[in-house]
Amino acid sequence: MTRPLEARISASALAHNLAAAKRHAPGARVMAVIKANGYGHGLLRVARALMAADGFAVLTVDEAIALRTHGVTQPILLLEGLFSDPELAAARAHALALVVHSPGQVEALETCGPGAALDVFCKINSGMNRLGFRPEALPGVVERLRGAAAVEHITLMTHFACADEAGGIDVPLGQFWRAAAAYRMPHSLANSAALMSDARTHGDWVRPGIMLYGVSPFAGRTGSELGLRAAMTLVSRVIAIQSVRAGDRVGYGGSFEAPHPMRLGIVACGYADGYPRHSGTGAPVLVDGRRTQLIGRVSMDMLCVDLTALPSAGVGSAVTLWGDGLPVEVVAAAAGTIGYELLCALAPRVSVVDVS
Ligand SMILES: *Cc1c(COP(=O)(O)O)cnc(C)c1O
Repeated sequence: MTRPLEARISASALAHNLAAAKRHAPGARVMAVIKANGYGHGLLRVARALMAADGFAVLTVDEAIALRTHGVTQPILLLEGLFSDPELAAARAHALALVVHSPGQVEALETCGPGAALDVFCKINSGMNRLGFRPEALPGVVERLRGAAAVEHITLMTHFACADEAGGIDVPLGQFWRAAAAYRMPHSLANSAALMSDARTHGDWVRPGIMLYGVSPFAGRTGSELGLRAAMTLVSRVIAIQSVRAGDRVGYGGSFEAPHPMRLGIVACGYADGYPRHSGTGAPVLVDGRRTQLIGRVSMDMLCVDLTALPSAGVGSAVTLWGDGLPVEVVAAAAGTIGYELLCALAPRVSVVDVS
């Protein structure tokens, strides 16, 4: 028998969530964000399931070339633009769109040799202070981009630091428009949280990521509460049973001490698969569709669950680590992180199975 751990990826869930994004932002074009290997779901698999998207956003030239090689004809945006000047030739050859966030990137577009002109997304720093030009610098940057032979169309963009919080958009939106209002240029503002919470951010292109995978961008709410469907379900099985007495300790470090006699299931999934080691006793797990809890420390290849209240469970019982029936947001919260991190951290050794 092969190891029973697998990540089931649902193409219909991805398509459903894209349709939800389009319903939320009916006037905008949807740039599906599929960086980080499609948030752990597989770059090409996700692109195929989301072929109805109007464009795709990735991080690297290599990801973009893989998409072009597999027949993607929509615009592809490099979210941090070029990391070095030699990448410009590949961007031209594959008609990639570039974020431009730094003076060096503007200069590269001004000084490069003749060749195809590219669409650029000029990034304004609206208060996140990560990438982008300060609003007051925009006039100079736009003038230079307009004069650069390697630039075709300019779209103005920003990225919100707090779009998932009530009122978190007002100030950065004001910052953006103070700079952008002078230009009749297309704009792109919304991540998933802004897309679902504030129509003022929809503009010409929306950039949903996490919602496409069925996961909520808002703390305390799950994707299914927002009408989304989990695209990834991580499943495994119980491979061994242990009966322990009161006072026995469980797992590395003996950090869990059984307060009473317990029946434990050992599950084939560990931190080398991407299950968060920071999780611990009490984190939710489904066994045979019923909710129980993690016990003790997560090992590299295994973890332990409480089967005391599930007498019919045994070796071979089905386990859901997250996904359909157990939102990854809830599992992530128990580990002190967010669903994004768990999905992206799915290890390459986990078998991926396509399901409808
Ligand atoms: C990752 C990313 C997104 C998508 O964000 P979600 O919260 O996953 O919807 C949008 N825009 C930019 C610039 C990003 O880097």
